[in-house]
Amino acid sequence: MLPPAEPVDALAARLADVDSRIADAARAVGRDPGTITRIVVTKFHPVSLVAQLYAMGVRDVGENRQQEFTDKASAAEDLPGLRWHFIGQAQTNKARAIRAAASVVHSVDRIRIADALDAASSEGDLPLDVLLQVNLTADAARGGVAPDALESLAAHAAGCRSLRVRGVMAVAPLDEPPAPAFERLHTYADRVRAVVPDAGWISAGMTADFAEAIAAGATHLRIGSAITGPRPLRG
Ligand SMILES: *Cc1c(COP(=O)(O)O)cnc(C)c1O
Repeated sequence: MLPPAEPVDALAARLADVDSRIADAARAVGRDPGTITRIVVTKFHPVSLVAQLYAMGVRDVGENRQQEFTDKASAAEDLPGLRWHFIGQAQTNKARAIRAAASVVHSVDRIRIADALDAASSEGDLPLDVLLQVNLTADAARGGVAPDALESLAAHAAGCRSLRVRGVMAVAPLDEPPAPAFERLHTYADRVRAVVPDAGWISAGMTADFAEAIAAGATHLRIGSAITGPRPLRG
């Protein structure tokens, strides 16, 4: 009899499975899978999981809470070329810590956070890649800029010297199928490009809806549990 599969084998199998589903979803709509960045969301999991993923070739990981983001990024400092994506609600008083660890901040949704991230730059820093998070729901509590304020936020962020506006990010609504919501996001991405012509990134798609996001043009997927397995409960 074969020995029981090690958890790391299960992780590798889930990663390979998700990657083949991404490739299938891309080809189904005539897109090149190589133009899509798959970010593995490692929130609540130990940094040892990040190291295992890194050994499997993963170079983009995402976290949604600043303290956990900061702690894991510093614990994984010895992994060259690993990019940390901050995907959670950003608070202005944490902007310096976020900027210190982030390759990309996906959640710029108001002028004050753009300004705080800009002010947190140091002499000689490379520009920080940022995405403008758009609210696809009518519920203002869900995070993201309201679509009617998107162009003014884009113009403001584009004027921040140490930020580079790369595109938009959104989370699908809970009370609507993802496909039409992601179609709206695509139109919002076009509106941002009218202000910042090279801001072509669309960060959308999670475990439950990445195929729909790919069909709507997502360039960056944020996938957690389909790859990592269920998240440990947070006590
Ligand atoms: C947790 C999280 C994800 C990943 O969610 P899964 O459903 O586990 O794939 C993606 N985006 C954001 C903003 C998240 O907080």
